[in-house]
Amino acid sequence: MEITQTNQKVLQTAKARSADELLSKKDFQSRFWIDVFLKANEINASDIHIEQIKDGLLVRFRVQGELLQFIEYKEEFSLVRNLINRLKQICSLDLSVNDEAQDRSVSFEVTNSRYRIALSPSVFGENFVFRIIRDEFIPKLSELYLPQETEADLRYAMNQKQGFICITGPTGSGKSTTLQSILMELDREKKKVITIENPVERIIPSTLQKEINHKVSWNTAIKMALREDPDIILIGEIRDRESAELALEAAQTGHLVFSTLHTNDVAGIVDRLLGLGVEKRLIADNLLFVSAQRLIQRLCSNCKVKLADGYHIKGDGCEHCSAKGVKGINGRLPIVEYSFYPTPESIIEFDKKNFESTQVKRTLQAECRRWIEAGEVDERELRYWRKSHV
Ligand SMILES: [Zn+2]
Repeated sequence: MEITQTNQKVLQTAKARSADELLSKKDFQSRFWIDVFLKANEINASDIHIEQIKDGLLVRFRVQGELLQFIEYKEEFSLVRNLINRLKQICSLDLSVNDEAQDRSVSFEVTNSRYRIALSPSVFGENFVFRIIRDEFIPKLSELYLPQETEADLRYAMNQKQGFICITGPTGSGKSTTLQSILMELDREKKKVITIENPVERIIPSTLQKEINHKVSWNTAIKMALREDPDIILIGEIRDRESAELALEAAQTGHLVFSTLHTNDVAGIVDRLLGLGVEKRLIADNLLFVSAQRLIQRLCSNCKVKLADGYHIKGDGCEHCSAKGVKGINGRLPIVEYSFYPTPESIIEFDKKNFESTQVKRTLQAECRRWIEAGEVDERELRYWRKSHV
């Protein structure tokens, strides 16, 4: 078909229709979504969960670790589909595909935020999770509320020329923030720092940040980075035996290597590395600082309730805390257990119980108790505490 002048104009307009233009339209669908995105920013949500349910659509926000319901939109299927389709247009997702998972990063000027989107089908339709990536202030290491000794040991470790530093914990435990705080305090002018991430969450000046995509696998990216003569390398996540070996061999050959794992605790790091089949000696010779981290909810100092025994529990909420979405709490505190230069024998003759009692400093439980005693954390927190919560 020949493209007439009018047609060409239509084509150009279609191309120029950015997410922001779609979001600023005045129809119901656009207003619906702009409300969702603005509200998520206002209450400082970390994620937006959008689910097509049996008779409608559910929008929830994750705020300080908890899911809060924002909208339950009960309407007939075609109206819900109109909303979903508009959202897919806004995010440049393929409208013709509705039975496959899709991933994408987008940014909206109108909310001044970047998002990592995961779209997946379920029995009732399509579901979205928007991880909000904020270019917000990265806290200094000294602002992470670590005990003095923990901070001093970590600082010592991160100033070594070689070795392996690993942080473990579930998703949302603040591992990335801790690593970003560390990177910001390294001497990045004098040292070559390469990161391999999925996705790159925050920009760290004077580092070479690489993002995994469907063309480059983790292990290829690690090998490529090692050929670029780095002093320090951050491997976003140890995923398998090969990445574990690459990380530890790099640590052995004169690099300082940072990484993360998903395990319950510090002993679990050693257990996992051994379980992956990495040679004991390679682990034993290179572990410098391994830590496990959680975020616990900090009570709102304005409305927390003091009990007769001197401990505190969550209050009903006040103007200070309720505005942020979750009543009675005021942000979260990281708690960290760690092992600093575990002895080679403790790894060669690894026994979880023995490792815990001889090599782990400040267990997660002890750290949690410290904050409870300081009146900063709900007295009931430890009761809910289960090591299996990963
Ligand atoms: Zn309050």
